[in-house]
Amino acid sequence: NPEPTKHSFEAEVAQILHLVTHSLYSNADIFVRELVSNASDACDKLRFEATNDDSLYEDDGELRIRIDIDNDAKTISFIDNGIGMNETDAIENLGTIAKSGTKAFLDKLSESQKQDGQLIGQFGVGFYSGFIVADTITVESRKAGEPADKGVRWVSDGTGVFTVETIDKATRGTTITLHLKDEYAEGEDSYLERSKIKRLVNKYSDHISLPIQMRKEVWQEDVSEDSDDETPKGGEMVLTDEWETINKASALWTRSASEVEDDEYIDFYKNISYDMDDPLTWTHNRVEGRVQYTQLLYIPKKAPMNLYTREQQHGLKLYVKRVFIMDDAEQLLPMYLRFVKGVIDSADLPLNVSRELLQESRDVKSIRDGNARRILTLLASLANSEDADKQAKFSEFYKEFGDVIKEGLGEDMGNQSRIAKLLRYTTTTHDGLETSFADYKARMKDGQKAIYYLTADNLAAAKNSPQLELFKKKGIEVILMTSRVDEWAMNFLTQFDDTPLQNIAKGAVDLGDLQDDAEKEEASKAQEAMQPVVDKLKTTLNGRAKDVKVSTRLVDSPACLVVGEGELSPQMIQMLKQMGQ
Ligand code: ADP
Ligand code: MG
Repeated sequence: NPEPTKHSFEAEVAQILHLVTHSLYSNADIFVRELVSNASDACDKLRFEATNDDSLYEDDGELRIRIDIDNDAKTISFIDNGIGMNETDAIENLGTIAKSGTKAFLDKLSESQKQDGQLIGQFGVGFYSGFIVADTITVESRKAGEPADKGVRWVSDGTGVFTVETIDKATRGTTITLHLKDEYAEGEDSYLERSKIKRLVNKYSDHISLPIQMRKEVWQEDVSEDSDDETPKGGEMVLTDEWETINKASALWTRSASEVEDDEYIDFYKNISYDMDDPLTWTHNRVEGRVQYTQLLYIPKKAPMNLYTREQQHGLKLYVKRVFIMDDAEQLLPMYLRFVKGVIDSADLPLNVSRELLQESRDVKSIRDGNARRILTLLASLANSEDADKQAKFSEFYKEFGDVIKEGLGEDMGNQSRIAKLLRYTTTTHDGLETSFADYKARMKDGQKAIYYLTADNLAAAKNSPQLELFKKKGIEVILMTSRVDEWAMNFLTQFDDTPLQNIAKGAVDLGDLQDDAEKEEASKAQEAMQPVVDKLKTTLNGRAKDVKVSTRLVDSPACLVVGEGELSPQMIQMLKQMGQ
């Protein structure tokens, strides 16, 4: 064989390599995820190519990834039997970044951001992440379908150049061997520890659908001649030539919903949510649209303690092609659905996606919209069900999370009417959180033009409000809203199904056709008769009340306070004060 040939990295690769070795040491673990995911991609590619040409499997159709540690040589190898590379592939794929997601990442960063290791730590940098822990990387590969003597060996120390040479390689696929730097080959940080590698695979790559294997270890006792039965025998763990699978290799969400048992869904929920309780319900779908993704979304039974505080974590686990990317990906759900748990897996997002990129991505926005719609549909199906079990589930849900979804009236205008249909209230004629706006509408009096509601601090205060007197006298039902968010949320909801919503404590109450002519005449007479009293009150209050008016809304009480249309109510002012505004 001729001597290895020397090549220089493309300028941008050199830049990436510099970043990797200088900024990523605090994220050293990511190389496991990146190299496993490349091996998995290589197997996916082979499987795809082989659909047209079975011979590419070369009688070895069981695709798998192996991780092998050599303590003496201080190396860790990632071995796959995927598509493999020839010399041209290796030079192109590992020496330039034209094709890799890394280029998009580099383009995104400004000069100053490139200096900032913090930000870079949140990105994956693909193959080059190996250079965080290795001072030399050797890649040996042979492309599927090509002869054994057309293998390639690629070697680099990650500084500016790499070499390639032709080798014989009988087995198809790629072996990537990292020669660990001393600081990563000893002590606590050592990647020569099998348990450490296992832990990282379980954390990042458990759901890769291929088996990931390591050599089996067995305990071998010392066999010395003179040992008696009294003294315990010594021994050591030795590696065998057998391989065992260390990942679960069964991403539950990639299976079709009809094949997954309820128990499996429940176990998986407990696994990802750290909730001891079963979930209330879930929904699992493969979404085929502009963006393709799988969604598995759970609604818990109980609200967490910190649902209303800022440190409440929210969001879903994000996977890209079964590779774990991040927890609490908050871009995947609107705030008012922050209690939802679950997994999103999309093949359309890059593996090195960061929180910053998620924020800007149109694909992510479309996933978020899809998730919100799916949850609202799920809730509606419980709320509207004839099945008593499902109705009970909805009541249970509403008790825990009813106030949170009200935030959606303001946050998610596009789904406002969907959200409004889920809301339930106590009213002056119907106790319990049972009346929907639709129920109320069905009970409205002839000639009634609006849905009337009243906000108050609590139910007792609401029920005794003088604002209700006229409505009681006329037998008109009024919705009593007593939660902290109601008044804020109702600012955004002005009508339900074309019927206006009116807060009876605000502005003038127009009962329209519900007031007969005699009453209107009586009111205008009273207006005249009371004018001197009104004038006197105005001078006495001297600006402390914005206006004094004769009202028809009271029956027994002599006077009440009314908030102007579009002004803050006392409850609202109090709430804002509590929030420190
Ligand atoms: P990305 O995976 O985003 O393309 P990487 O830096 O991780 O970027 O990998 C660069 C390229 O190197 C891959 O696109 C692929 O062509 C090639 N490659 C890396 N690892 C392997 C492998 N195990 N088998 C075959 N090709 C590989
Ligand atoms: Mg990659």
